[in-house]
Amino acid sequence: MVEKDARLSQGEIEVIKKWMSQKLKQSVCSMCGENQWHIGDHLVASPISPKGVGMMLGEAVYPQVMMICTNCSHTVYFNAVAMGIVEGGKKHNEEKIISGRGDG
Ligand SMILES: [Zn+2]
Repeated sequence: MVEKDARLSQGEIEVIKKWMSQKLKQSVCSMCGENQWHIGDHLVASPISPKGVGMMLGEAVYPQVMMICTNCSHTVYFNAVAMGIVEGGKKHNEEKIISGRGDG
């Protein structure tokens, strides 16, 4: 699990690298064509927004791992629950964490 300051541990980064090596068939940047990536130091979270309204529902978020191209800075996001970095459905820093796969 991520510490309260949210910086990923070396162990979590190793889990992410292993997951990516098992799951990604190719990792060329879709914007610039380079293949050099940095895993973001922190998770980010996308809040759930109701349709057609500019306000947020409040507590539930989708935690994401960032993969950042070191050449052009294009950033891609992976669901941290599905990757096993965050436990689904548990409270974390007073926010509900969900995977978006119907198990949260
Ligand atoms: Zn790039």
